[in-house]
Amino acid sequence: MSKQILIMPGDGIGPEIVAEAVKVLHAATARFDLDISTDEALVGGAAYDVHGDPLPDVSLDKARAADAILFGSIGGPKWDAIERSKRPERGLLRLRAELGLFANLRPAILFPQLAGASSLKPEVVSGLDILIVRELTGGIYFGQPRGIREENGERVGFNTDVYSESEIRRIGKVAFELARARGKRLCSVDKANVLEVTELWKEVINDLAGDYPDVEVSHMYVDNAAMQLVRAPKQFDVMVTGNLFGDILSDEAAMLTGSIGMLPSASLDQQRKGLYEPCHGSAPDIAGQGIANPLATILSLAMLLRYSLDRGDVATAIEAAVEAVLEDGLRTADIHTDGCRKVSTAEMGDAVAARLKAS
Ligand code: NAD
Repeated sequence: MSKQILIMPGDGIGPEIVAEAVKVLHAATARFDLDISTDEALVGGAAYDVHGDPLPDVSLDKARAADAILFGSIGGPKWDAIERSKRPERGLLRLRAELGLFANLRPAILFPQLAGASSLKPEVVSGLDILIVRELTGGIYFGQPRGIREENGERVGFNTDVYSESEIRRIGKVAFELARARGKRLCSVDKANVLEVTELWKEVINDLAGDYPDVEVSHMYVDNAAMQLVRAPKQFDVMVTGNLFGDILSDEAAMLTGSIGMLPSASLDQQRKGLYEPCHGSAPDIAGQGIANPLATILSLAMLLRYSLDRGDVATAIEAAVEAVLEDGLRTADIHTDGCRKVSTAEMGDAVAARLKAS
């Protein structure tokens, strides 16, 4: 049966980079035995402009019906002043919550050709391949009670960091299974010396470890993990952590690779239906100029094929096509260095599609 992919370009550079990923998808369907149909839906500011809502029912219904979603980016100064509940970002947060996308996968991969783009020494980061698995729908970002109240004549702000055993087990299983399919090492990050919620986290991860004897488990306090990521990042294979720590560590790991324009992500539900998007935002400062790097979105498409459509073979071919194009010396402005050929968004997409077709 044909698999349905919903394309949600969004705002800013979103439509430009998604168009390049769609080119690569067409090249993949021409080259491989893939039965895919696509549909498109508005989200973010683009949806607000038409429907007065950043996630209108028509878009949410299409997202529910799809097998996977390829998402661009949302937001921009045009919508900064509108009522908070209608802002573009709310559309994405609601989409994640409505679809139960609890597992956020953020690989930090450094193609050897780009080792010079990192702020760390090339030998520390060259060949880096880490996968951070972040719990996305629980923890302190969602815990109740939360708010700001008056106490003894002053305002007090408070949030609640809360995880149930079942929530920890659910994300833990995803991480163990991913580790099993890669380097078989899993590092669980907590602050169990101070926070009871992460003491439970550590216990549940240790319980789960019994089901995965082939995966080597370690535990690290979050402060040490932040330090180790810049000291010796290649010691990690898969890292798993809660919502807040994952937010911070995945951005830190992202910067090890030098450019945010290279980093894909996946957010999965229990059935591995997922939303796939670049880690960066809508880059309003360069939107419409044809210079954005489409590779994070193209690599997000590869993740979509691997995790939601079970086509690891096509995903690997796309990743190889990206690497070949980098090897040929093609660079968008954000990753350009002397001696390379500076290309536009569309030229980069064309080159990856051509390499894939020829593979
Ligand atoms: P940003 O990621 O959009 O941009 C940060 C910097 O990186 C900018 O200089 C931009 O030009 C550059 N950049 C980003 N993606 C690039 C690419 N593919 N190629 C080349 N350069 C790229 O972050 P920001 O400026 O803080 O936010 C801009 C808007 O994006 C805001 O409205 C924000 O709310 C939104 N945002 C959306 C998402 C999302 O859609 N998931 C995530 C983060 C921010």
